[in-house]
Amino acid sequence: MAKLYFYYSAMNAGKTTKLLQSSFNYRERGMDTLLYTSVLDDRFGSAKITSRVGLAEEALTFSKELDIFEDIIHRLTEGVACVMIDEAQFLTKDQVTQVCRVVDDLNVPVLTYGLRSDFRGEPFEGSLYLLLWADELTELKTICHCGKKATMNARFDSNGNILRDGEQIDIGGNERYVSLCRKHYLAGQCRRQATASEAS
Ligand SMILES: [Zn+2]
Repeated sequence: MAKLYFYYSAMNAGKTTKLLQSSFNYRERGMDTLLYTSVLDDRFGSAKITSRVGLAEEALTFSKELDIFEDIIHRLTEGVACVMIDEAQFLTKDQVTQVCRVVDDLNVPVLTYGLRSDFRGEPFEGSLYLLLWADELTELKTICHCGKKATMNARFDSNGNILRDGEQIDIGGNERYVSLCRKHYLAGQCRRQATASEAS
């Protein structure tokens, strides 16, 4: 039986690299994959998934209006072994149910990759329902400047001040986001301080 997988993490934990590696593994065994990314993420060109370590693959895009179940049915061929969705935090609740139907009705595995929470510490709609409805949850780990696991994404202005309010979606500048542990997220401390006693 096919399953719905959700790989979640803070930013810069290698989600996209993991997706592209998995896709490569399928193709190496002669199977096809259908790749999707959010139409919002046009950092590297709208129809390409690009990881920070330099891997890249062509992808389809989803907007909030797309019926992803109908889109996948339309594109499904016998060789397609699985569907992979990057930036899955941008799926709507309806689209998460559509993805569930791809798994349950079409018996095609779907691997989704996304951020658990936004810079305010609030859930993304897509991630919220994937966390609730996916068959398998896997956390991909990255670390804070203190060495602890980073679970939060902090947004900073050009002066290094943490931003607590603003639009949820502001893709484009990795330099304005830092992955932090909860303690340093709440403290608003974006980098290691020479005098800080962080052993406590
Ligand atoms: Zn920390």
